[in-house]
Amino acid sequence: MTDNMITDVDRLPPEVNFFSLETVGEGVFAAISDSPLAASNAGIIALGDGALLFDTCISHLAADELRRAATHLTHTPVRYAVNSHWHPDHVLGASALPGSVPLISTGHTRELIDANIPGRIRTMRQQRSQIDQELREAQRRLDGLTDPDARRALQEEIQLKHYRLDALNNLTMRLPNSTFERQMAVYGSERAVELLTFGGGHTASDAVLWLADERILFTADLLFNGIHPWMGDGDPDEWLRIIDDLLALDPAVVVPGHGPIATADELAALKTYIPQVQAAVVDLLAEPLPDDEADDDITMRISVPAGLADLEGEELFLRSVAALVTRALAQQPQPDADDAPPNDGK
Ligand SMILES: [Zn+2]
Repeated sequence: MTDNMITDVDRLPPEVNFFSLETVGEGVFAAISDSPLAASNAGIIALGDGALLFDTCISHLAADELRRAATHLTHTPVRYAVNSHWHPDHVLGASALPGSVPLISTGHTRELIDANIPGRIRTMRQQRSQIDQELREAQRRLDGLTDPDARRALQEEIQLKHYRLDALNNLTMRLPNSTFERQMAVYGSERAVELLTFGGGHTASDAVLWLADERILFTADLLFNGIHPWMGDGDPDEWLRIIDDLLALDPAVVVPGHGPIATADELAALKTYIPQVQAAVVDLLAEPLPDDEADDDITMRISVPAGLADLEGEELFLRSVAALVTRALAQQPQPDADDAPPNDGK
């Protein structure tokens, strides 16, 4: 750690924001991620005598900003936080919240956080030496730069790398304190919110937040708006079923897990998107396996359908299809014992 590293969120310059805040109803706010330090959207709900955070972003820096924004917007402290599903970009900020703030998830999401997050944290920490090296190189380049605009751009890049290092140095798993199986209501003095799960589509367990009076739905990653969704940990058939459950709520406003605020139309569009992913998987499974399977990069054999060219994050489509193909191949029946290679007993 270097002396000039920013480790105290209070020293962040005031112009730094990891997300933009949008009002989606009275006392209901969406934090739309603007930065890899947030990496996912979140929600702030005023309950009257406290605020509830729906999801906690990827870093302690963004989560702390989320907590301070909630206090500022609702004039109350954060009283509850929710993790919609186990993915790191939604849960890792939770450790920055005070321990007195209970963290809520489905029971299965709690198990998945416990099973997956320690490994993800180990993998993410491995990025630190690379960022350290990039910082040294960027600093050397800055020393040789005289053009003010170029210096400013590089200084911003350096600052972002310092934030990323700070975030990676502060990765801690926090497990939910309270779980639910199908639904849970959280009551404040002026408002109750409903947490619902219809099972798992994006992951094995996905929860949404529903405000029935205002018809505002926070879907987390059951909707990526304008971006290809990550489907590699999910179940496309179940996801399609869950979309119908969500549409049956008749939401007027839909806050996605990634991308700008949406409506039911974008949610309904997944009903034509997901079958295209499934078709790509079927096509690939029908192809003969390449001679050298070990060196096969499945993503090289996938192309994004022309109708989906407007969506950002093309590599997410490729990676999702590749992951679903790999999983399907792994689940195919094993060859009969007679065909199997000799068992060496290990
Ligand atoms: Zn996710």
